[in-house]
Formats: sequence, C-alpha cells, structure tokens
Amino acid sequence: MSSTIYKNIDRQPIWAAGGNGVWLTDRDGHSYLDTCGGVAVSSLGHCHPRVMDAIAREVKNLSWAHAGSFTTSPAEELADLLTSLPGALPKAQFLSGGSEAMEVALKIAYQYHCERGEDGRTVVISRRQSYHGSTLAMLAISGNVQRRSVFEPVLGPAGFVSPCYEYRDRRPEESVADYAQRLADELEAKILEVGPTRVAAFTAETVVGSTNGAVPAVPGYFAKLKAVCQRYGVLMLLDEVMAGLGRTGHHYAYYEDEVVPDLVAVGKGLAAGYLPISALLVSDEIHATLGAGSGVLQNGQTHVNHPLACAAALEVQRTIVEENLLDNVRARGAQLRRELAQRFVGTDSVGDIRGRGLFVGVEFVTDRETHAPRSGGAALTAAIKREGFRRGLLLYPGSGTVDGVLGNHVLFAPPFIATEADISEMVGRFGEVVDACL
Ligand code: PLP
Repeated sequence: MSSTIYKNIDRQPIWAAGGNGVWLTDRDGHSYLDTCGGVAVSSLGHCHPRVMDAIAREVKNLSWAHAGSFTTSPAEELADLLTSLPGALPKAQFLSGGSEAMEVALKIAYQYHCERGEDGRTVVISRRQSYHGSTLAMLAISGNVQRRSVFEPVLGPAGFVSPCYEYRDRRPEESVADYAQRLADELEAKILEVGPTRVAAFTAETVVGSTNGAVPAVPGYFAKLKAVCQRYGVLMLLDEVMAGLGRTGHHYAYYEDEVVPDLVAVGKGLAAGYLPISALLVSDEIHATLGAGSGVLQNGQTHVNHPLACAAALEVQRTIVEENLLDNVRARGAQLRRELAQRFVGTDSVGDIRGRGLFVGVEFVTDRETHAPRSGGAALTAAIKREGFRRGLLLYPGSGTVDGVLGNHVLFAPPFIATEADISEMVGRFGEVVDACL
C-alpha cells in the first residue's frame, strides 16, 4: 500500500521510470509516445541535454536565495529574455505554478486600482468554459463547471460572459467580424451591469486549453475586447499558462491576435517541466503606478524568482530561440491538423479539428452536419485514455467541451522537438484509439 495521495485515491497511476525525447517509459518497460506533453508541459520532450546540463551547472552554484533580499543572474537573464520576445510586456516576476501566477496577477490588478484611488474595483469578469487555476480564488473566476463543482459554495463572486467558440456559437448568417462585435457588446453590457467603476479586470485564455480543446478566438476578437476594457478602465489579463511560450507557434499567443494585454501569465512551457516555475508579465503603466504609489508589491512568496528554476527556464527558452523551434512548431502543427483531417475524413464522430501551432483540439460529435455533441462524459474520456495507454500513446482527452456537461474532445500538445515521423505516428495510433472507442 502506497503512502502517496493519488488523484484517483485508490488507483495507483502508471509508474513513470524514464523519458527520452517524445517518449516516456514505465518501470515495466512499456513506452508511451507523448502527444500532449503530459498537460502541455514538456515542450522540449524528456531529458534534453542542454537543460539537464544547465540545471547541473546552476545547482553547483546556488541552491536558493530569498527574493526579498537578493536577485540572481538566472532571474535577471530570464526576465530580460522573456521581456525581449516579440510582443512581450516589459516586467516579469517568477512564481512556481500557473495558479499562483494568475492569482498574483489579480492581486496586482487590484493593487493597481487601489494605488489610483479606485479601490471599489473588486470584480473580475471571466468567460464561461475557461480554466484559470486550482486555488479557490482562481476557481472562482474559472468557468469550468467540472472543476468548480464541489467547491461552488465556497467560491467568491465573479462575472461571466460567453467564450469565443466559433464552431458552436457563430450564427450561420453572421460574419466573423459581426460575431466578434456581438461578444464585445456582451462584455460591455456585463461591465455596465456590474457597474463600470466596480470592474477590476477581464480575463481570458488566449487559446482555451483543457476545458474545450484548443479553441482560438476569431480574428479581431481580442482587439475589440481590449477596446471595451480601455473604455471602462478595466485591465485585460490574458492567461497563457497553457497556450504561451511557443505552443501556438509564437512566444506569446496573443501576438497572432494583434493585441497587447495589460498582464499575461505563463507557466507550463516556461521550464517545460524540468522544474516548477511560472511567470507574470505586466505593463510599464502598472509597474510605474505601483512604483510611484506605495512602492511595494503587496505579495511575497517563498519561492519567488527561484534561481534554479529560473536557470532551467532560461535554458529552455534559449533553446527554443536558438534552435528556431517555433518554425518546427508551425510546420509540425500544420502537418498534425492536415493528417488528422485526412485520417478522419469519413468519420462522422469527428466534428472539428482546430488550434494553432502544436496546440490542436479534436472535438467529437454524433453528427458532423448538425455538430450535435456526444454525451458520455468521463466514461468516454477514461476509455480513450486507457485505450491510448494500451497502444503506447499518451493522450489528453476531456469532456464537457460544449457547456461543462455535453461534448468530448482530445487535446494535442506534443513537444516542439517532434519530427515529421513522430507526428504521423501519433495520428496513426490515435486513429486506432478512436476506431476502438467510438
Ligand atoms: N491557467 C490555465 C489556462 C491552465 O491550463 C492551468 C493548468 O492547467 C492553470 C492556469 C493552472 O496552472 P497550475 O496547474 O500550474 O497551477
């Protein structure tokens, strides 16, 4: 009997023993082809020599220093790198996980308003079908019905608007621009309903991840929403914990949406799983307001700017830049979508294949014409996952794709180092899993 608490309390998960590139192995010697980087984390695959060497170097140098008193070279160099990437915000701080980075983002947003004498701005507006983290404050602003479920009674208030989910919600007669405008009007109406002087921030995943499977916004959507936010002094916080740092083919996913937020959180791909680290980046205006006001960031956590985690992240991000891996993300992403479309061309149960870069969702339906969603929720998710393991394939399926209850999808987020042959192998094995489960 194990002393470890597992996700499924009484079921021991597979015992991971090693990894190499896009492959993981268990202690019984089975190999698994990684289509999803676990949960969109392992962007450089497993045991990348550059990252392992960088960690080994830094661990001999400095194990830890408290950010309240010290800064370090890895933290400074990582901040310089992240803030110099195309479209980046100019100031960064490092935390340990995505939920923390998002939570600090909201604290900074609120502190910013307070420093400007607007302490009545306490409400965050978020979108349905979204996930922003596992802490109670983050669940309160997450529109993920399943993850909120048991905690609903203890969650604080938040405002919610519709997601941008073209496959399901754009009306047949509506242009893309009109659809984006309808959603911008909805946000404006929600701000007016809450009270324009009471809203602190609007938050959204730039490309929605686990909740409904790599759903990007339509062109023009984020620019229109940013204009609404600016009209009412509401900060725009983008959550790129899953979508950011190259996953979509750009260092910041919002670059493709031609918008710059006031704050952005990144996480999973930052050190690609080699060590736990996330980051929050903010605008000059926010940073300067805090500086000119109290001059103190009202947040402190033990592992802020952790030097070893920063050193691992620095090497991961340098590798992505120096080896032009985003070119591979774009090329392999296009290949993945093309080969999935070819594989399922006659399969009525595969309704939509979407996404950006190596962030791709496959949504299941019962009828391709009407887009009628499947039910079956967790049972189908479990079956797909199990069948994947049986066929040596690590998959990331989800249910409740449409509204938290109906619909099912699989999310692909393979390592950026995946080769053409790896992608074809993933599609081939996934096709067999779908045939077996549906
Ligand atoms: N935001 C998004 C979009 C996520 O996908 C996640 C995790 O899946 C989080 C926030 C929370 O990150 P973490 O689990 O590292 O706390």
